[in-house]
Amino acid sequence: AELPRVTYSNINADFTAVHSLFDGVLDDTRAQVLGRDHAHLIAGQPVASGAMATVVSPIDRDIVIGRFGVADAAMVDRAVQAARAAQPAWAARPWQDRVAILRGFADELSRRKFTLAAACLFEVGKSRMEAIGEAEEAVDLVRYYCNQMEENHGFLRQMKRAFDNEETIDRLRPLGVFAVIAPFNFPLALSANMASAAMVAGNAVVYKPSDRAGLTGALLAEAAQAAGIPDGVLNMITGDGATGRALAGHAGIDGIAFTGSHAVGMGLLRDVAAGPFNRPVIAEMGGKNPTYVTASADLDVAAAGMARSAFGLQGQKCSAGSRAFVANAVYDDFIARLIERARAVRIGNPADATVFMGPLIDDKALDRYLRACDEARRDGRLLFGGERLTGGFHDRGQYVLPAIVDGLPDDHRLHRDELFLPFLTVQRFDDLGDAIALGNAVDYGLTAGIYTRDPADLALFTDRAQAGVLYANRASGATTGAWPGIQTFCGWKGSGVSSKGGLGPYYLQQFMREQSLTLWH
Ligand code: GLU
Repeated sequence: AELPRVTYSNINADFTAVHSLFDGVLDDTRAQVLGRDHAHLIAGQPVASGAMATVVSPIDRDIVIGRFGVADAAMVDRAVQAARAAQPAWAARPWQDRVAILRGFADELSRRKFTLAAACLFEVGKSRMEAIGEAEEAVDLVRYYCNQMEENHGFLRQMKRAFDNEETIDRLRPLGVFAVIAPFNFPLALSANMASAAMVAGNAVVYKPSDRAGLTGALLAEAAQAAGIPDGVLNMITGDGATGRALAGHAGIDGIAFTGSHAVGMGLLRDVAAGPFNRPVIAEMGGKNPTYVTASADLDVAAAGMARSAFGLQGQKCSAGSRAFVANAVYDDFIARLIERARAVRIGNPADATVFMGPLIDDKALDRYLRACDEARRDGRLLFGGERLTGGFHDRGQYVLPAIVDGLPDDHRLHRDELFLPFLTVQRFDDLGDAIALGNAVDYGLTAGIYTRDPADLALFTDRAQAGVLYANRASGATTGAWPGIQTFCGWKGSGVSSKGGLGPYYLQQFMREQSLTLWH
């Protein structure tokens, strides 16, 4: 029988059969995929690295994910040169060929989706359903950009004729070589998103996965090779922050696709601006995403959605709902339900099908959590959580309780800074318009959500919320779980370079430059 497809929002489907299959895949992945050495992939060849870094799982520091190369500037240069050498022939192929090859890549990803999900679970500590959903999302993203090429006829368009003996074509052409710099939190989907858009448009890619996600990076590169993406069109190098800086700053790079923190993204934009000419930096950065719960809301749906949004993947999503504004009339009732949800969250080894929250990614995240909780105790009230879990399995990684905080001053940094943690601040409101103004008064503008049954409140929200992705009354996660072709993912303000994010109809064009060609006969 056909297995139900795991997406982030079909949370009520029966996944029993998926779980039993995945049990076996987790065992096989642990036995056969984890713990190996990985080379860079340059011009279709594995290239061994001098320096290597051993990466362990955030779930359990005794699980070795693998050993990965740390590319230095010379290795980065070698990868960029390989991409430069391969790109002209790739761009010269009919766009229909590139689409066919990328569709093959999507098929390879689909065939491997459970192994990719298992690797992602071990590597970044994602829950089962988030990991499988992400592998499915990666497949859909690649197919989505293939569809985009077809729907836009390869971005070639006949223009109006001014004279009988004149003909003009407008076309979008690839830029050349893209650096693709991916984050740890959605290592499959966001890598596939950026790299496939770049490639189907005719660019070659030097892809650097997060230093916490080299395994999924290597598995993606393997799938690309199996799909027959020509040598040098997708090069993969692993490394640290210095590797990323060497790549982004290399003179042979024609554009940068980046997903990650606001600080790093803004640094990339400043570096490019200091160079000889503008190169596109397609940057998706952070979020501080508000959710509004009005007096007319279905409070059960709201509490369920808020908890999934704030605590899913341990809050390490740029889409996470990290700020709730709750109408005074329902405040106590909503908070009671939310705390009940937080108390019910199972925290532990995500290989266990009942676990919703795995570990934080690293020590730095734990530090950030503990410091934020201290600040919350000092300047407001910690309504739930605030502690690291210790004893037994929890000692193997950085496991924490979800935190719910209120009573902070309106302009407190915990209301404004992206923390990337399972940390939700709550504020009361009497007037929704005032609450939306406060929710907007941050540097970010990625997602925003509302729970209401009142059309006037909904209209106020859709009119005023300053965010690229708006959601209303979503039980599967207030502000999370965008899906290719359904929601676009477009950060406003400090969350992105423009209103053009991934997953939607205006993303692919950013990987190309426009050219007009007029011919006289
Ligand atoms: N696409 C994910 C979502 O909609 C978030 C991606 C991210 O956090 O970078 O929840």
